[in-house]
Amino acid sequence: SFPPDVVPQAPEDPLFGLMRAYKADPSPNKVDLGIGAYRDDNGKPWVLSVVRKADEILRNDPEANHEYLPIAGLASLTGKAAELLLGPSAPAISEKRVASVQTISGTGAVHLGALFLAKFYKIDGVHRTVYLSNPTWANHHQIFTNVGLPIATYPYFDKETKGLDFEGMKRALADAPAGSIILLHACAHNPTGVDPSPEQWREIAALMKEKKHFPFFDTAYQGFASGDLDRDAGSIRLFVEQGVELVIAQSFAKNFGLYGERAGCFHFVAAPSSDAAEITSRVASQLAILQRSEISNPPIYGARIASIVLNDQALFAEWQENLRTMSGRIIAMRQALRSKLEELGTPGKWNHITDQIGMFSFTGLTEAQVLKLRSDFHIYMTKNGRISMAGLNTRNVEYVAKAIDKVVR
Ligand code: PMP
Repeated sequence: SFPPDVVPQAPEDPLFGLMRAYKADPSPNKVDLGIGAYRDDNGKPWVLSVVRKADEILRNDPEANHEYLPIAGLASLTGKAAELLLGPSAPAISEKRVASVQTISGTGAVHLGALFLAKFYKIDGVHRTVYLSNPTWANHHQIFTNVGLPIATYPYFDKETKGLDFEGMKRALADAPAGSIILLHACAHNPTGVDPSPEQWREIAALMKEKKHFPFFDTAYQGFASGDLDRDAGSIRLFVEQGVELVIAQSFAKNFGLYGERAGCFHFVAAPSSDAAEITSRVASQLAILQRSEISNPPIYGARIASIVLNDQALFAEWQENLRTMSGRIIAMRQALRSKLEELGTPGKWNHITDQIGMFSFTGLTEAQVLKLRSDFHIYMTKNGRISMAGLNTRNVEYVAKAIDKVVR
């Protein structure tokens, strides 16, 4: 049996606990700013118009069945997914330096990458530490720890400016032992909404190249952040153009609204060299073995939907339009929240609400203020003061601004 000192009761996942509390709240004014999923202006989940069309195509496809996908997943998806990240004419792709595997969304991609590095990435027989931004998506800590990799953090969020602690980050990267694994959010950093500028990315890439650090990109919001797929992949492309070897965990949960369908990919990109294609082929063969033991074959439905869209020009254009709809609404809500707080004269500065980008904002609200918003105003957010911008809409943004104003005073 498993006594409590061996298997203690684990705490509930804070985010799912928050969701439960929100659901149970009978108040008609309640606002959910916890969940990291897009909502339309009526506060409802949104099935992208392009996803509806792809679903229709799939349903009318007489060839479609429920057979297993290959171990590496749907090739018509993984190839396009790599192009989406690196650009369709990227030399890394034409030189066969990219190994791509379809995964269980972004989480599965981070996990597969972590597992691969735990098994194969050692220097003088010793694992390198994975450096995570402080803060980061909480699951990063668990995923890398579960595969036995040591983890550490690098400074990221500056509490004063509510922007990037660039000096602290650079210092930590410079101090980390050569060859450390550095986890980077490609865009729309979760939970802070703070991204380095293109100029800062260039400095980070140069510093990491000099230190021979290993970049591990997590990209869960491409196209969802700025509305521009190329722009949101800028950080990754910059590193690839520098000729460094890296890996990428890619999620299609947010940008396709395919959350529960678990569509994503993991990519290994080799540095340019005469044996790069051969290295890539060996890596791909080992990824296939890991995948086989973990999930055997990735799920088919979401992969097909994404593949249909990525392989059709007209649907791709519609997807870009859908991305602009989602990112545009979120950017508009950032502007609305900031201007309402400024109109109210709420103490403090609120420029960070519009400086930050993507699904989340780190408001700077304290835990006490967060709890007061929940108990007195039925507004739900995580205790670290992170709000999901997607939970705001034209009907509740003023209510939220007024509530924040009251708890801050
Ligand atoms: N990484 C980050 C930074 C995320 O924010 C998320 C989504 N919350 C993911 C990975 C993975 O999400 P999913 O497994 O749903 O694709």
